[in-house]
Amino acid sequence: MSDSPRRDAPIDLTAADFRAAGHRLVDRIADFLDTIGDRPVTRAPRPSEMRALLPPGGVPEDGAPAAGLLDEIAPLLFDHSLHNGHPAFLGYITSSAAPIGMLADLLAAAVNPNVGGWQLSPLASEIERQAVRWVAELLRYPPACGGLFVSGGNMANMVAFLVARHARAAGREGGRPLVYTTVETHTWIHKALDLFGLDAGHLREIPVDDGLRADAAALRRLVEADRAAGERPFLVVASGGTVSTGAVDPIREMAAVAGDHGLWLHVDGAYGAPAAVLDDAPADLHALGLADSVAVDPHKWLYAPLEAGCVLVKDPDALRGTFSHTPRYYHFGDAEEPETNFYELGLQNSRGFRALKVWLALRQVGRRGYRTLIGDDVALARRLADRVAAHPELELVSCSLSIVAFRYAPAELRGAGERLDTLNEALLTRLKRGGEVFLSNAVIDGRFLLRACIVNFRTSAATVDALPDLVAREGRALAGGGA
Ligand SMILES: *Cc1c(COP(=O)(O)O)cnc(C)c1O
Repeated sequence: MSDSPRRDAPIDLTAADFRAAGHRLVDRIADFLDTIGDRPVTRAPRPSEMRALLPPGGVPEDGAPAAGLLDEIAPLLFDHSLHNGHPAFLGYITSSAAPIGMLADLLAAAVNPNVGGWQLSPLASEIERQAVRWVAELLRYPPACGGLFVSGGNMANMVAFLVARHARAAGREGGRPLVYTTVETHTWIHKALDLFGLDAGHLREIPVDDGLRADAAALRRLVEADRAAGERPFLVVASGGTVSTGAVDPIREMAAVAGDHGLWLHVDGAYGAPAAVLDDAPADLHALGLADSVAVDPHKWLYAPLEAGCVLVKDPDALRGTFSHTPRYYHFGDAEEPETNFYELGLQNSRGFRALKVWLALRQVGRRGYRTLIGDDVALARRLADRVAAHPELELVSCSLSIVAFRYAPAELRGAGERLDTLNEALLTRLKRGGEVFLSNAVIDGRFLLRACIVNFRTSAATVDALPDLVAREGRALAGGGA
């Protein structure tokens, strides 16, 4: 076969062309990463400006050389993106991407294993199995669990939701299957209910305390009342770091309620679970092992490039029992040893090699490295909170894990509720447009707040120290009617 003449395939590249284009691209990326902090975090452009940069018309009839296309698009992307790798990107929960993850994605695409079936991806499947176990270990979760990589936190949570329903609700008689969580839970829960044929009537809201954490005693009362009324509670969802303020639910107490009533306990640790690697993490984050399942996002606090979510399920059979269907057209059963076919563990069939970037980063930095990275992010958040608290024009509202919520509230405006909300909303937009820092927002007790979330290994003490004065300066300019 190897002697056959090369087919004239317009999509192929010769080795020489691939090498030349690839080396140039890698050089450009290295320069981009080296100077990323000198760029605006974003230029906050309009959609029409971006469309004007694209080639006009429909699908080109004739193609163009690959190298030229990469030369053209790389600088455009560097100039017209929101750089979550910028030291002053503190918005949402998207991390700076680990350089080794960038190279891993290139390698994964080059080998292109289909990690749906073991025989289609022998080494890649074993790397994914090991990466899942390592992520579990890092989180202090039983490494004998089942699990797999998915696109992100939403999918990881949805996979767990379906496993929970399969394990604890399917085939049982009487009442409605009910789910318990707080309003602080990420919106994936609503999509999951919808996707799996439930609606808002199947969701029970657990009240929260002042720290926006679930009230476990109230959870117990809700479950008891529902069971007495003949309903069918099956799932409790706790947050291991809420998306808004980083609040960690009382996982131990919620596990006790779930245990007493035979409910599945799922922890949404999409953001916060990796902080369990810290010895001084909140005690409830050290109790992830009490959960039947955990969702975690390596593309957040393990700094993997998008996309990489991961779901861990304590009982591997529960995972397989939910998703394993073996149709006649799959013949994977001729193995001498048991093989893991990831298509039997989740919703996807063909699957990319997401695990590689996570596995390589774990090997590059080790547990010790992640302790340092995550610990430094938490320490920087604390440092920011202290400086905000000490600033006469700013008001600190909360600091948990690596999320700080605060607002611009100069003395003369304190207590001016609605006006402060409007002012801070406008301030957030102004800061984004300015390109010096990128924050997002949180709402606590109806107050509109600025929110800094540090999952960024490029953020330094200098970035954090400059922030309070920057926010106050822009706040003053706005409040005083300046530009
Ligand atoms: C980010 C996040 C999600 C959603 O994860 P994606 O990766 O964006 O799909 C869900 N829950 C929490 C707590 C999150 O922080």
